[in-house]
Amino acid sequence: MDLRGWVRTSLLDYPEHIATVLFTGGCNLRCPPCHNRDLVLHPQDVPAVPADEVFPYLARRAGLLDGVVLTGGEPALQPDLVPFLRRLRPLGLAVKLDTNGFFPDALETALAEGLVDYVAVDIKAPPDKYPLLAGRPALDLAPLERSLALLRASAIAYEFRTTVVPGLLDEEDIVAIARWLAGAPFYALQQFRPLNTLDPALEETAPYAPEALQAMARACAAWVERVEVRGA
Ligand code: SF4
Repeated sequence: MDLRGWVRTSLLDYPEHIATVLFTGGCNLRCPPCHNRDLVLHPQDVPAVPADEVFPYLARRAGLLDGVVLTGGEPALQPDLVPFLRRLRPLGLAVKLDTNGFFPDALETALAEGLVDYVAVDIKAPPDKYPLLAGRPALDLAPLERSLALLRASAIAYEFRTTVVPGLLDEEDIVAIARWLAGAPFYALQQFRPLNTLDPALEETAPYAPEALQAMARACAAWVERVEVRGA
């Protein structure tokens, strides 16, 4: 695994867990509001984290940590994601995978082998705006659709989440996403932060007012079981 970042202890990244957070380098998308500019564009310039440091640390912290978060970048871009998850399993930690959903084969194996306990999928936009919000023209959404279907058919806990970027997404878009995700157990609307964005122009964009995000959440309530506003 190309690990390029490590937060040893976090109370924020895995609901109800004290988790270590591992960041992988590289991503298949180029979302303009992405905050991980270096990790996405120049992962080779970010200091590597040797897996051989991570595993002994996790073994020593048994009982103090109860979770691991794999995030990025895009963890499923890594060809050895599944072997890495297999190596984590014996440690007895709950595993959360953050993904953009474009690698359903790895997700399918991870689900089939019981290698993950929680999956968070970023939903960038309604289908018609996906190429814009993912920074990839002519993006094929079929892999993402397959990941969504795999999660719906699985028994594990999962969430869908959208960063609500003013000027790129409005309430109509958010409701269109909720309709697309109809029946999902949990949908999180995340506040946009104009910091270190892949598209520097977005650093001039003011976030939505909390009340506007709450109104969007209420508008989604007819389509998904639970909606939460984060970071506002
Ligand atoms: S926000 Fe987009 S570009 Fe950034 S890591 Fe996530 S999927 Fe990749």
